[in-house]
Amino acid sequence: MRKSVLLSLNVLCASVVWSQSPPAQSKLSVHWEELTAADFKDAIARAQGTCLLPFGIMEKHGPHLPLGNDLLNVRYVALTAAQQEYAVVFPEYYFGQIFEAKHEPGTVAYSRGLQLQLLQETTDEMARNGCKKIIIVNGHGGNNSLLPFFAQSQLETPHDYVVYVLGITRSAAGEPKHKSNPATDMHAGESETSVSLIARPDLVHLDRATQESGADLARLKLPEGLYTGIWWYARFPNHYAGEGAVASRDLGAFEAQTWINGIVQAIRAVKADQESLRLQNEFYERSRHPLDTPQ
Ligand SMILES: [Zn+2]
Repeated sequence: MRKSVLLSLNVLCASVVWSQSPPAQSKLSVHWEELTAADFKDAIARAQGTCLLPFGIMEKHGPHLPLGNDLLNVRYVALTAAQQEYAVVFPEYYFGQIFEAKHEPGTVAYSRGLQLQLLQETTDEMARNGCKKIIIVNGHGGNNSLLPFFAQSQLETPHDYVVYVLGITRSAAGEPKHKSNPATDMHAGESETSVSLIARPDLVHLDRATQESGADLARLKLPEGLYTGIWWYARFPNHYAGEGAVASRDLGAFEAQTWINGIVQAIRAVKADQESLRLQNEFYERSRHPLDTPQ
């Protein structure tokens, strides 16, 4: 009697363990390129059609960080977030706006038309494969104008999917005190270098961070609100803004975690969002015959 109770308890425990933690080989990777074709179908279903497109760049990052810094950092936070709230993550993508660094070694700057066409065909292909909700996770400040324009231009012609853009969300209240001036801590400076110390510490050459100046040269004297493309070169021609030398793992851990939390929140919000696609479809339908739109 006692033995059979024990036995059935064992069976019960085994089935509970089985249902809570499937064997390692059946765990679905979040990496698009690591899935088999059959597993990809399961992954899209598990992700509820939600996919991430982490967007980096190849450009100089001061004297001390790798050319692929933005790609490496954005993939680190996006992959970590997708493991917490399941989403399928598209492979390495770094075909963004970076004309302002063409004078520096190692920059890869595709033409304006190709950037938009490649991004459109990439999201079209993602959607054709079931990614009906695509979150572009931006990791590069030079894309800050490109990506909202791309998302907005999805209204030009009907699409059966929604593009969302998530900006860089690293800093938050309660973070460790900065040692450098936050106003010019932008590119390869204290914050960004700190995140790199978490994502890829092996590629950070902190001892070289003072070999160039990250000071703001402020060479343009234009009123606020008046924009011109050479603004970045006018201020930071070395592609260095701030002081990377004062970076710390403490600050990096905080900012990386803040960024990861922001992505997790975005994935959950996008999974729950049923309105964007419905409204897009209503809009596309009305835009075919605007004179019928109620006035
Ligand atoms: Zn960067």
